[in-house]
Amino acid sequence: MRFWCLPWTRHQVFRALGVLPVFLTVGLLVWSLGVFYAVVLPAMHGRRAAHAWFWGPAVTALWVMVVWCYGVCVMRDPGHSVARRATVSSHGGMGRQPYIRVRGGDTPRRRRADSAADWDSDDSDAGVRLTEDQLQQADLIQSITATDSGQPRYCHKCNAAKPDRAHHCSSCDMCVLRFDHHCPWLNSCVGFHTQKAFLLFVTYAALYTTVLGVLTTVYYVIWIITEQALDISLQTLFMACIAFAFAISLWGFAGFHYYLALRNLTTLETHYSNKYRVPGVASAVQPGSINLFDLGWRRNLRQAFGPSRRHWFVPTISTIGDGTRYPINFETYNELQRAAT
Ligand SMILES: [Zn+2]
Ligand SMILES: [Zn+2]
Repeated sequence: MRFWCLPWTRHQVFRALGVLPVFLTVGLLVWSLGVFYAVVLPAMHGRRAAHAWFWGPAVTALWVMVVWCYGVCVMRDPGHSVARRATVSSHGGMGRQPYIRVRGGDTPRRRRADSAADWDSDDSDAGVRLTEDQLQQADLIQSITATDSGQPRYCHKCNAAKPDRAHHCSSCDMCVLRFDHHCPWLNSCVGFHTQKAFLLFVTYAALYTTVLGVLTTVYYVIWIITEQALDISLQTLFMACIAFAFAISLWGFAGFHYYLALRNLTTLETHYSNKYRVPGVASAVQPGSINLFDLGWRRNLRQAFGPSRRHWFVPTISTIGDGTRYPINFETYNELQRAAT
């Protein structure tokens, strides 16, 4: 569907408009550090030089980490689904092509992009039977999750099998590995390759806005007490208010996402439980709140932040695995199997 009389599709227009929140975020970050250096730091230096020598580098270091993590979240591919397509060769044997990238190219997904609805919130097959080729393709991924009827999960928009925990994002128009949510502030998805950078971003951003808000407020109060308030521009007060508003929401957001990381859940999985294949059961089993990917909080955190402690605090890629298969908790799986059969 074309967007009114414009030569672009609705998807292309929304994708282009999606960069506006990114520009706004970058603008706020640059402006906040500018006000800190132009107003707060000189005032701090005038009263106590030692404070300025400590807080100047500390705030700058936090700002650098926020920008670094934010840049990674915006620019790094969150991990899009790839399908190892199996084809039946002319002599009847099953050949294997190399990985086929779902993103880009004139795939059926591209041709169907105009009619792309919202991201698929469930795996209801609604009577759609997969072809033999699609089933072969899906089998090679070896998923533990399935649709209601026990069929492999398959994305008809990407025309590719969906690995465990992958979901189709209509904003990005692709299946994203370990899909968490589409974030308009990033104009991208939080997925397998960006989960750690996103967790670090909300953490550093919460710290940065808290420190900035407290320092600005303290020095604003001192200026008022010393009757120098008239010399202070209103934008300093404005910055303190904005910093506290962001700090409150960011701490809440960080708390929620650390809770998810500790339980090895995605935001989507808190609304929509996975359905699992169980041997001896024809249809898929949806065990309510049971999460087979929960390996205990230590291993869950290691999956999110990687095995090396040196890389825990920087947004490097250190996640375990390729994002198409995940270790499961076999104790829980055995219990599930006993209850289902
Ligand atoms: Zn898809
Ligand atoms: Zn997305």
